Amino acid sequence: MLQDLPTLSHLLKVLQQVPYLASKNLYRVTGHFLTMNEAQMEQFCGALLAAKKKLAKCVTCFYWREISSECIFCSSQKRDTTIICVVETWQEILAIEKTKGYNGLYHVLGGSISPLEGIGIEDLTIASLIERVEKNDIAEIILATNQTPEGEATAIYIARKLKDKNITISCLARGLPVGSSLEGMDRLTVFKALSERRPF
Ligand SMILES: [Zn+2]
Repeated sequence: MLQDLPTLSHLLKVLQQVPYLASKNLYRVTGHFLTMNEAQMEQFCGALLAAKKKLAKCVTCFYWREISSECIFCSSQKRDTTIICVVETWQEILAIEKTKGYNGLYHVLGGSISPLEGIGIEDLTIASLIERVEKNDIAEIILATNQTPEGEATAIYIARKLKDKNITISCLARGLPVGSSLEGMDRLTVFKALSERRPF
């Protein structure tokens, strides 16, 4: 069937490479693209290309920044520069910022230590984090990695590395669902998890 429609078949193949796009959604998403008019399609492709061209990662915290400006967190004069909240991905920063209950800095690890997926310590930004702690006046590190075995293992590894640095190491409040990440939680739960944080 599809071999008679090489263009459609190619589109499906390309979309199939998008992680998180479950196979049952693949046809629906493809269908949606096919109903777009040309202007919508141009806007869509333009947004992707613009993101590629105009966004970069902050070399300090690894959150996104516009290439034309400084990192909104690291360059801010209003934030508490003595606290760093360590997260796995930038999406968690969005969840934390929504609570308006945190005013420190961030550090995006880029994932968690996962031998099964071939993600090792050197694939994450842990070395940069240690360097940040060594070079700056940091009083507290909040380990806000996901409540998964990989997230926990990553937190333990970082805590061990920071053990002798004379800083407070804390983690999120107990009671968060196992396997959870801040990204999928409601604002109040994230707020509580952070404000009731405990020593690691
Ligand atoms: Zn930054």
